[in-house]
Amino acid sequence: MKIAIIGVGSVGSAVATAVKNTGLVHEIVLFDRDAMRARAAAEDLGHAATFGFDVKISAVNNYRGIRGSDIVIIAAGANQRPGETRTDLLQNNAEVIRDIIPRVMANVDAKKVILILVTNPLDVMVMLAQSLAKLPPSRVIGTGTMLDSARLRTILARQLDVSPQSVHSYVLGEHGDSSVVDWSSVTIGGLTLDDFCRQTKNPLTAAARNTIEYRVHNAAYEIIRGRGATWDGIGAAVADLLRCIINDEHRILTVSTVSGTNAHAFAMSLPRVVGMGGATVTLNPKMSAAESNALRRSGRIIQKNFSRI
Ligand code: NAD
Repeated sequence: MKIAIIGVGSVGSAVATAVKNTGLVHEIVLFDRDAMRARAAAEDLGHAATFGFDVKISAVNNYRGIRGSDIVIIAAGANQRPGETRTDLLQNNAEVIRDIIPRVMANVDAKKVILILVTNPLDVMVMLAQSLAKLPPSRVIGTGTMLDSARLRTILARQLDVSPQSVHSYVLGEHGDSSVVDWSSVTIGGLTLDDFCRQTKNPLTAAARNTIEYRVHNAAYEIIRGRGATWDGIGAAVADLLRCIINDEHRILTVSTVSGTNAHAFAMSLPRVVGMGGATVTLNPKMSAAESNALRRSGRIIQKNFSRI
């Protein structure tokens, strides 16, 4: 299994580390428009690889070097500075995706390649990449709200004093400020959230839910304020997505792919079955009327942003 990573900044390097540590790939090639940065990352990661799985890691200085890649991960482009939203990156990163996708597609097997998008604003970049690549939507996958869902799961689990492994909870819609916490579909040990709280005598008040939502929505801003950027969480999310694809696991992940027809087609995160063929089945989650309205609003925001590029 050969993987290419385009863009080897904070996120691309963290993705390479996490992917290397899965032991599922035999070769990782790195491309960055800053060739020296890609070479340095390959060198450093190559040294790290001697302590773990035997993965060949190299930098390539043109797109011919990605030939033979089964999966291409796009992590190139500007990141948010403190206070900036993901949407602030729209025009700059649309140019980055327009630059990258045709070059990638000229060097991969369009019949089987899977593209994983990480660049923000994520959902609009998925739409742009899919239209440029002309691949089936199931094989142009954005990490979407995988990270947001993981944040929700962790915060909720800590609050309720159970392991995150026992919590199923989704953040849906835009990977951005309009994302929606789907409280209606939360289950813990097979129980609804209300049943769990009743049985454990651990009430989750409306105020507590609002605080959790606030923390989920603001997690990236907090991390960027303290650390300059986010990389570990997304690195792990991409490696998890990759594992799900390579092992054909058919796990349900909140990834972003284009769905709908013609003018109504757009990308956002919904629970999707993911395996070797990509994100093949989309599920309609259980939602309250207010949550459905918020999801529709989130979709409109993504469509509006796409119309601006
Ligand atoms: P960074 O500035 O550290 O690295 C970006 C890299 O992209 C740089 O090395 C740059 O040279 C390279 N690059 C830019 N344009 C290029 C092009 N046309 N071709 C090849 N390489 C190019 O930024 P980062 O912190 O690594 O973030 C990368 C992207 O990931 C940002 O858009 C950020 O917002 C996004 N991100 C997404 C998530 C998510 O959950 N989807 C999480 C964190 C970050």
